[in-house]
Amino acid sequence: MKNKLLSVDIGGLPVTPFKSMNEAVAAVCGKTGVLPGFAIAINAEKVIEARDNAEVRERLLSGSLLFADGISVVKTLAQKGRKNTRIPGCELWEHLMYRAAKLDKSVYLLGANERTNQITAQKLKEEVGLKRLKRRNGYFDSEQIVIDDILSFKPSIVTVALGSPKQELLIAKLREIHPQAFYMGVGGSYDVFTGNVKRAPAWARKFHIEWLYRLISQPSRLFRQAALVRYLWLHFSRKL
Ligand code: UDP
Repeated sequence: MKNKLLSVDIGGLPVTPFKSMNEAVAAVCGKTGVLPGFAIAINAEKVIEARDNAEVRERLLSGSLLFADGISVVKTLAQKGRKNTRIPGCELWEHLMYRAAKLDKSVYLLGANERTNQITAQKLKEEVGLKRLKRRNGYFDSEQIVIDDILSFKPSIVTVALGSPKQELLIAKLREIHPQAFYMGVGGSYDVFTGNVKRAPAWARKFHIEWLYRLISQPSRLFRQAALVRYLWLHFSRKL
């Protein structure tokens, strides 16, 4: 994907800065159609993990479009002279679904529990206007079922909500059998889309403290947030 060329190195990962959500959507699905590839959301935690763990680094480097999902990554891109805005993965996914509907592209919706997956598919059909959609929940017995779905449906866009690293590992396999599609790991996006999980309120998003809101509402994330402290130290000492 051509955007890798415009990327900036952040702790060893090539992250593409975007000035707007529209620009990010266009990088995935332009007027001519969907660009094959694999988009990965990058935040402070992933940058730190990639520095510590070669396997994680390799997995993230297999993405063709790495975008700044965390505010700290946005700030480091700006520090390196690239004006940009945050592209939350769940918002990119939703915008992409609207674009896919407009262009009548086919979407394979994988992941989350049956109820969430089913409601997501229904909303995408009824509210977003997607016509060509196939779905499967994220609790399948064998990956072969998913591979068979992909080979028979041959979707243009595949979005996978299994959590990390499960979703990235599966996408790597699916890309081998169907490289023509655009892939995206979307974590809890269907849960947010269906209202199953609440995002931080607008004020918290506006002041870029969505991470703090999540930390307070889910204290178990504290360990994950420890990476943020390391990231900030590297950012301010310009070592990223
Ligand atoms: N999930 C799934 N199959 C699994 C494990 C998880 O479908 O075997 C789903 C889970 O139901 C949830 C999503 O994957 O909808 C994971 O969301 P989470 O917030 O953990 O992902 P993150 O964005 O933090 O990686």
